[in-house]
Amino acid sequence: MSPSSKIKDLLPSGAELIEQKKDGLLDVPSQPAVGFIEGDGTGPDIWRASRLVLDAAVEKAYGGARRIHWVELLAGEKAYAETGEHLPADTVEQIRELKVAIKGPLTTPVGGGFRSINVTLRQVLDLYACIRPVRYIPGVPSPVKRPEAVDMVIFRENTEDVYAGIEWAAGSGGAQKLIKFMNHELGTKLDKHAAIGIKPMSKMKSQRLIRRAMDYALERGRESVTLVHKGNIMKFTEGAFKDWGYELAQDEYQGRFVKEGAEITQGQVVVKDRIADNMFQQALLRPEEYAVLATPNLNGDYISDALAAQVGGLGMAPGANIGDQAAVFEATHGSAPKYAGLDKVNPGSVILSGAMLLEHLGWLEAAEKIAPALSRAILAGEVTYDLARQIPGAREVACSAFAQRVAEQL
Ligand code: NAD
Repeated sequence: MSPSSKIKDLLPSGAELIEQKKDGLLDVPSQPAVGFIEGDGTGPDIWRASRLVLDAAVEKAYGGARRIHWVELLAGEKAYAETGEHLPADTVEQIRELKVAIKGPLTTPVGGGFRSINVTLRQVLDLYACIRPVRYIPGVPSPVKRPEAVDMVIFRENTEDVYAGIEWAAGSGGAQKLIKFMNHELGTKLDKHAAIGIKPMSKMKSQRLIRRAMDYALERGRESVTLVHKGNIMKFTEGAFKDWGYELAQDEYQGRFVKEGAEITQGQVVVKDRIADNMFQQALLRPEEYAVLATPNLNGDYISDALAAQVGGLGMAPGANIGDQAAVFEATHGSAPKYAGLDKVNPGSVILSGAMLLEHLGWLEAAEKIAPALSRAILAGEVTYDLARQIPGAREVACSAFAQRVAEQL
């Protein structure tokens, strides 16, 4: 692939580009081109399996009237072997042009100060909303008594907070400079040997995330949006996140929201807030009281994994990173290199991320078939090794065979 290659040269015959309308909504043709990055390690096995299920779901729902043309985009080890770069600039440009892509897990190259490809993609494409739906899939072993009570969608801010990567090591020139400035100019009493990390959180970036959570809840008739924050301690960052959330609701959702405790009418959503540590208790004790969560970056990272574990699905949790110009759907687990090429691991995370992708395209008839089919396949008792060792009486099958079972259940 030459650096000048334009997306049109990559399009298979019959494929059309997804367009974005002025209002930001997608205009999806019946045969859209959608990007895929197969991923490293177990990625190729998982992607092959997932693609089988996604194509089968589309075929089942629309019988040939709609079809996705998958366009391979290079990232990770495969990109490095072909281009000498882990994330070629062409790939980023191609995702921008295709607007929608899905990726398998990518190995983070060790050493050389290399940033995670996943993080880089989110930053360069400004994919500011990390969306993780967490719902119990019947048949999956769970560590809690009522996993089915969890049905939440987490909207995690993806670009700011202590995860922005603005930090200096203890004793470094940068840390010392900052400490000197702060102690002299701002009256702090920082230890001069401290490491320093910066926690930026802005109104615009908080509100664009919370707006997505509000729109999602209203479009889908979900009952509440909970702002999860640690504002009792971090007043000007996390506390402001909560305040900006309520302000946004007042300014842009007049008549369509109420605060907790008020009478709710149809077409409205309750906006409430919880301090992050309390939210972890609530998630276990009263999960049915929560539908959509909007959180800053760090809280969102923790609560996403905790909730996914609660429904037993850490290895099967789907995810998406969405911005105003592009959306990338992805496995939430890593590339599990020790199982690479063994056709062994569970493709559930990418399959369910693919269902989110179909939903994003507005292809709900296909999207909605996938989780129930996955559940039926698990209940039938032929599953990948990770589930087989937890489900009494289950038989282990390969990644590809499991995908075949899911496709048969569509
Ligand atoms: P990992 O998720 O790859 O693997 C940890 C363990 O989880 C595996 O040994 C395996 O037992 C299990 N596991 C993972 N995926 C599974 C699946 N689909 N089915 C069944 N079991 C599964 O985590 P790691 O070993 O810490 O990371 C490996 C590489 O992946 C690293 O380079 C890391 O940076 C990268 N990573 C990428 C992503 C991403 O692409 N989104 C996320 C996390 C880690």
